[in-house]
Amino acid sequence: MNASIEKIKSLLQQTLAELPPSQHHLIDEVFKELSTLSQTLSGSQSDEPQPTIDKTTGCYQFEGNNGFYCPHCFDNQQRKVSTQRINSKLRICTDCRSSLKRLN
Ligand SMILES: [Zn+2]
Repeated sequence: MNASIEKIKSLLQQTLAELPPSQHHLIDEVFKELSTLSQTLSGSQSDEPQPTIDKTTGCYQFEGNNGFYCPHCFDNQQRKVSTQRINSKLRICTDCRSSLKRLN
């Protein structure tokens, strides 16, 4: 997608050369919009919420979400699998059966 934007910019540069200076501000506006668009696009690619490790449980947590998720399933398969609480010190992943303990 960013390659398309680079292509548009290059076409605009050529257009700019053909335009009288009084019209250059229009192209400048388009450049600005393109920069915003390109930032939005690259931002949306990494829009997946990044987990933080919860040291108390050894599980991953995601922003705006109170669940505890298996770090192994997420790291290996990018899947959010809820962990099941066994007791105050132990949780297990319902999918890969990993035991998740408090981190030291
Ligand atoms: Zn798992």
